[in-house]
Amino acid sequence: MFAMRLYQPASIERNPIQPADLSAPEPGPGQVRIKINVCGVCHTDLHTAEGDIKPPALPVTPGHQVVGVIDAVGEGGRESALGTRVGVPWLYEACGQCEFCRRGEENLCSQARFTGFHVDGGYAEYMLAEARYALPIPDAISDEQAAPLLCAGIVGYRSLKKADIQPGEHVGLFGFGASAHLCIQVLRHWGCDVSVFTRSLGHQDHARGLGAVWAGVAGQDPGRLLDRAVIFAPAGALAVRALELVRPGGTVAINAIHMSDIPSFPYQTIYGERTLRSVANATYQDGAEFLQLAAEIGIRSTVNLYPLKDANQALRDMKESRFNGEAVLTIDAS
Ligand SMILES: [Zn+2]
Ligand SMILES: [Zn+2]
Repeated sequence: MFAMRLYQPASIERNPIQPADLSAPEPGPGQVRIKINVCGVCHTDLHTAEGDIKPPALPVTPGHQVVGVIDAVGEGGRESALGTRVGVPWLYEACGQCEFCRRGEENLCSQARFTGFHVDGGYAEYMLAEARYALPIPDAISDEQAAPLLCAGIVGYRSLKKADIQPGEHVGLFGFGASAHLCIQVLRHWGCDVSVFTRSLGHQDHARGLGAVWAGVAGQDPGRLLDRAVIFAPAGALAVRALELVRPGGTVAINAIHMSDIPSFPYQTIYGERTLRSVANATYQDGAEFLQLAAEIGIRSTVNLYPLKDANQALRDMKESRFNGEAVLTIDAS
C-alpha cells in the first residue's frame, strides 16, 4: 500500500514526509483494519514533522483524523463490524486501569498511545485501530466533513467544556484555524457572542462570516470584557493577553499541544479568581458526544482537499495560513 511517512523531522519546506510502499497491516486481537477514505491534516502533524514534538520511534505514518471503512477484523472481533464507517482520532487507546482512566480522564493516561505518533496513522491507504476506540460516524456527515471533526473538532469541543462556557456568554477565540472555525459554530448554537483574535485578515473575514460579533488582532480590544477565552495559536504571549481581557472569575483555556513560553506577568493580571488552564487531548466520550452534536447542529467544516501524495504541501499551506478551515488528504486505495 502507498503511505506518506516521516523518517527524519525537518522544516516542512524540506518535505520531511516521504512516500513509501508498505504491505497492508493485519489486525491483531481487538483490532480492526480500516480502508482509509480521507485523513485530516492537523497542527500536531506539523509539530511532529518539524521535530517540535518527538514520536518515540521513526519512521512513523502521521495522521489522526482518519475516516474509512472497516475491511478486516482481528481474532475474536465481530464480523458484523465489516463495512462500518468509522473515525480514528488522536487517542488511539488508553490503558483502562490507571487512576486517570478509572476517573474517566483517559486523556491524561500516561500509558495512552496516540494515532500517527506512537502508532502508524492515516497518511496511508490502510491502518489498524483498536475496535473499542474507533468512533462511528453519523450518516449525516460525509467523509470530507467528518475528518476535521476528529481532532480540531473533538479537542476544540473539550476546550469549550474546560473553559466553563455557559450559554449566552461572551467568548474570545485566539487564532482562527481548523479548530476555532468549528468551535464558533457550537458557541453560536449555545447563543454565545464570539470575538475572534487573529493576525490573518482572511481568517478575520472567515470569522465574521461564521457569526463573530467582532474580529481583530490580539493587540486590539473588542470593547467589552470576555467571560471566557480559548487559545488555539501556540504563542505563549496570548495567554497573558487573554487574561488581560477576561473578567474577574473568567477562564482562559489553552488548546495546544505545544506552545512557546508564557512570558511573566503581574499577579494582578490573574488576580480576581481568573483561571488559566491547558487542555490535553480528549476522551472517547468527548468524541462520541461531539460527533452527535455536530450531526444535530449541522456543523460545516471548511475543507481544502489535497491528494495524499501532496501531504507536505498541505502542511506548508497550513503553516502559512494559506487557506481557511482545514486541509484534508484524499486517499484512493486501488
Ligand atoms: Zn490509563
Ligand atoms: Zn490533531
